[in-house]
Amino acid sequence: MPELEVIIGLEVHAQMSTKTKMFCGCDNDAFGKAPNTTVCPICMGHPGTLPTPNAVAIDKAVLASLALECTINKENHFDRKHYFYPDLPMGFQISQFDFPLSEKGTVTYDIIDDSGKVSDTKVCGITRLHMENDAGKLTHKGTTTLCDYNRAGTPLMEIVTEPDLRSEQEAVAFAQELRRILIAVNASQADMFKGMMRFDASISLREKGTEKLNPRSEIKNLNSFKALERALQYEEKRLRKEWEDNDGPRKGDITVGWQDDIGKTRLLREKETADDYRYFPEPDIPPLTFTQEDIDAVHATLPKLPRAQKEDYMDMGIDEKQALQLVDQSDLRSIFDAVYATTKDAKRTSSLVLMQLLGFLNAEEKEVNDGPDPTKILELVAKIDDGTISANTGKDVLQKMVETGKSASEIIEAEGMQQISDDGAIEEMVQKAIDSNPKAIEDFKNGNEKALGAIVGFVMKESKGQANPGKVNEILKKKL
Ligand code: ZN
Ligand code: MN
Repeated sequence: MPELEVIIGLEVHAQMSTKTKMFCGCDNDAFGKAPNTTVCPICMGHPGTLPTPNAVAIDKAVLASLALECTINKENHFDRKHYFYPDLPMGFQISQFDFPLSEKGTVTYDIIDDSGKVSDTKVCGITRLHMENDAGKLTHKGTTTLCDYNRAGTPLMEIVTEPDLRSEQEAVAFAQELRRILIAVNASQADMFKGMMRFDASISLREKGTEKLNPRSEIKNLNSFKALERALQYEEKRLRKEWEDNDGPRKGDITVGWQDDIGKTRLLREKETADDYRYFPEPDIPPLTFTQEDIDAVHATLPKLPRAQKEDYMDMGIDEKQALQLVDQSDLRSIFDAVYATTKDAKRTSSLVLMQLLGFLNAEEKEVNDGPDPTKILELVAKIDDGTISANTGKDVLQKMVETGKSASEIIEAEGMQQISDDGAIEEMVQKAIDSNPKAIEDFKNGNEKALGAIVGFVMKESKGQANPGKVNEILKKKL
């Protein structure tokens, strides 16, 4: 057996986050809605209707293209891609064939090891990004098939990579970085649970050191990173066995489907030639044209991309694992950013948000969204900063905020947790501490500075942690 190399390329479909569908005014958010309620004659392909491209979808696809460092084709157009399937009401998909929106990009991505640290940085070429509309959804029940066309017409970006990925691990790391980028530029919510991002993966083997690509196996319909990884692992093993049995690569391409429940691929078809979709330019939509000014204007709105965001957090002194966590969880990030904007203290912010808040949320098995929002957290920060409560008490207040959903003021008020800074009250407590600890006072007078700690500790204990420690020290020293 020669030493073999794995060659992987991906085709990614991502639903765009727009209010309306790609070619009609129907609601693009069908999640949780009754079947066939967000449809109209246009997305149902009725005769005599005309599609109108969604300008917001086009802008988002341009922005995503620029984030992937693709070159925009200043003239591009839609094509009809014909195939017949019950989920496709028009009998064709409006896609882009020979002139896609953009081409020739790159994505730089990091391989993260088990400890959360970057172990390698790689680059994957992007062949093209084009726009098209999604199909409906079929549900098979016994011998019956139910059709829901709510999703029919949802704007999609199809992103095709070069065969640059060399392992399952690289494929998953690339796909995760692509997802981060699409979310960062707000082109797609890329919610995997809602099927907003789906993968088809091509895999083949070749002898290490050779250049020619061998016939590949295309795995359809991978709906999670886990499925992508498992399917590629399974198919790689299968192809290695096949190579061994045939003493060489397979002869033609095949298409297989991933069966997540049993963890195996299943042969769908053997390809002799490319599918004949009888593409032709969509006659009802004029070609799209972009000037350099159009492209520059969109480029000017390009936000900071995930790897740069991560660098920023690391420059603040946040460790890599936590920086990645912030990049990946936008709800957590908005809390972190709001607190940091007020405190200007990365260490304090990360202890409050990434240690305390996340710890309490985990203990309650709550999501970040179910916990206190940035405004509520900032109210707590203000209560600590103005001396109403100590930082230590702040921790207890935050825990109660997570448990009850109440605000910091409500909890402090209801539980009487205010810090005691009143001179008279503290003086009284300090006197009591002195009277109750003659031994410590004796030690202090004999030159043992540390003995004071016992007195302060006594006051803090008596006041249930609410005495202002600065004041306690100050008054104690005055008295002695
Ligand atoms: Zn419609
Ligand atoms: Mn497609």
